Amino acid sequence: MKKQWNFATQAVQGGYEPKAGEPRVLPIYQSTTYKYDDADHVARLFNLEEAGHIYTRISNPTVAGFEEKVNILEGGVGAVATASGQAAIMLAVLNICQAGQHLVASSTLYGGTYTLFSTTLKKLGVEVTFVDPNSTEEEIESCFQPNTRALYGETIGNPGLNVLDFEKFSIVAKKMGVPLIIDNTFATPYLCRPFEHGVNIVVHSATKYIDGHATSVGGIVVDGGNFNWDNGKYPEITEPDPSYHGLRYLETFKEAAYITKLRVTLLRDMGPSMSPFNAFLSNQGLQTVHLRMKKHSENALELAQYLEGHEKVAWVKYPGLKGNPSYQLAQKYLPLGASGIIAFGVKGGAEAGKTFINNVELATLVVHVADIRTYVLHPASMTHRQLTEEQQIAAGVTPDLIRVSVGIEDIEDIKADFNQALGKVKL
Ligand SMILES: *Cc1c(COP(=O)(O)O)cnc(C)c1O
Repeated sequence: MKKQWNFATQAVQGGYEPKAGEPRVLPIYQSTTYKYDDADHVARLFNLEEAGHIYTRISNPTVAGFEEKVNILEGGVGAVATASGQAAIMLAVLNICQAGQHLVASSTLYGGTYTLFSTTLKKLGVEVTFVDPNSTEEEIESCFQPNTRALYGETIGNPGLNVLDFEKFSIVAKKMGVPLIIDNTFATPYLCRPFEHGVNIVVHSATKYIDGHATSVGGIVVDGGNFNWDNGKYPEITEPDPSYHGLRYLETFKEAAYITKLRVTLLRDMGPSMSPFNAFLSNQGLQTVHLRMKKHSENALELAQYLEGHEKVAWVKYPGLKGNPSYQLAQKYLPLGASGIIAFGVKGGAEAGKTFINNVELATLVVHVADIRTYVLHPASMTHRQLTEEQQIAAGVTPDLIRVSVGIEDIEDIKADFNQALGKVKL
């Protein structure tokens, strides 16, 4: 039974409910395997007639506690944790898409997702059409083919920091009869709950704000349970599965059909599961997500405003800034804050940007974002360097762009550090 608690209470206490005498804190069940009393019990588990753990590749009690907390916070009907965010995205897509089929995706995506879609899925026979998220409904619809299986986007695009127009995207997805899959990594369910805006499937890189402390690589897929799979397009969900003696997912698992299928087929067969230890750490971090995201957002807004007025800064992008092209969408979909990621350009272009990065002291240069510490990064030469310059521009990466992940340190110290590093840049 899910309790009707508010967000902060669910973040702290949701997902794991110990019985009398059991550990108060979600324990690390560092066990690959489980014990049974009779053979019929195991047979029922293998037939999916009864819920229970069989093998840690498929499920584990620690991982389940973490999955359920994320599921409650997002407002879904079920979640599957994975070894990484990339694994979550891959499984979310492959669960309803196979060779000869097609996806439509926003062009402003995380670099790893872009290469997964443009290169690796292509090798598996899945084509992806990228569309500028500022396109009209008609333009997005024109990217669809009869074999299109899903529409994909990110709540806050990486690293262009555009906020997705959920209403527009969900209208198109509904009209075309496909689920809308959203990467909600940068917002977290504290700042945005996509299922409230017509989204059907949410994915996260749990490596980022969910863990929040940069200790564990992980991912998660959450099912909104709000898509009508029975529209004639998804036989893998409505028709018998020979790998489970003809089981029909929709008939048996109702609104949780998609997420159950993902666990018992793709997680079973491909195996990118989250380890119990990483689930413990990710769960530990998630317990404070509401406090951290509030502070990340406050600090980011203040730093963005400070940089806007700085003489060495050419431009600043942050969806929480008045005048940002995404400002209205941020007010609508991210009312509690626009998260902790900022992009800006140092006057003098790529060279000046490098000087800045080489001189920060409190902020550090890492290839990571979205934990409690302040980080800086130059995407054109780092995260997005495998893309051609054309692809970089389409993804919102200009040569002078510096991405900042604003931490929860004291904002006065962060501003002072940026000011001294910008002071080293010669105009
Ligand atoms: C980091 C990231 C990913 C990939 O997640 P990993 O955990 O690194 O595999 C996907 N989407 C977004 C938005 C990310 O920031």
